[in-house]
Amino acid sequence: MITLEDISKSYDGKIALAHTTLDLAPERCQVLIGPSGCGKSTLLRLVAGLITPDSGRIKIGDTPMTPQTCRALRLRMGYVIQDGGLFPHLTAAGNVTLMARHLGWERERLRKRLAELAELTQLPLELLNRYPVQLSGGQRQRVGLMRALMLDPEVLLMDEPLGALDPIIRSRLQEDLKQIFQRLKKTVLLVTHDMGEAAYLGDEIALMRDGVILQRGSARDLLERPADPFVAEFIRAQRRLWVEDAERRL
Ligand code: ADP
Ligand code: MG
Repeated sequence: MITLEDISKSYDGKIALAHTTLDLAPERCQVLIGPSGCGKSTLLRLVAGLITPDSGRIKIGDTPMTPQTCRALRLRMGYVIQDGGLFPHLTAAGNVTLMARHLGWERERLRKRLAELAELTQLPLELLNRYPVQLSGGQRQRVGLMRALMLDPEVLLMDEPLGALDPIIRSRLQEDLKQIFQRLKKTVLLVTHDMGEAAYLGDEIALMRDGVILQRGSARDLLERPADPFVAEFIRAQRRLWVEDAERRL
């Protein structure tokens, strides 16, 4: 569904992503995990068509990402970032429907889709008239998710969507997200720095360091068969959080 072939990207001569190849199966959740600065957001932004690689090829479905196709491809992908990335001067509903209104959707179609998405993301309808500052962090993330899903994209790109939330709210939202992924059958690429979240939400995990994917596999693969000493060290350091997370869900 999404293919990255030998992708590299540098900023001011410093490598952010080096010769990365990755193939995402449709309707699965691929997690990217790794320490801060390892290139996770860069990879996501390349797939989203927000930045261009120095070399290599990206394909969404059968369509290569080029300056010509990039706009149309972007409509097939929903993008969610930490804190929702909502426009402060628009209400929640204004944020969610922005692109659809731009595309000329009728009022009734907008209203129906809004109600559908509010139900899906469990956001009380009356909150849709509020501005982002009048919402809690968790509510803002639900609105961010609604906005990303508005045009019913095939692909969902999420960059630490739950990173700024406290643990209880976060585990609620993780559970809701997992249900939404299963229900909608989207192809998901999700960035997190939390191994518990990765293990819970990801069908597959790619552990990155210094612009390189060190290992790709299930949480169990990474735990039991680390391909690199850094993988073992990263997993060990995260183990406590991971166990705490699992216990909270019991
Ligand atoms: P992560 O999301 O894993 O924390 P990023 O992909 O944001 O990492 O960053 C990878 C590397 O690229 C870091 O060293 C970061 O400082 C650098 N970088 C990212 N974006 C930019 C930019 N717009 N300009 C310059 N350097 C950048
Ligand atoms: Mg990042």
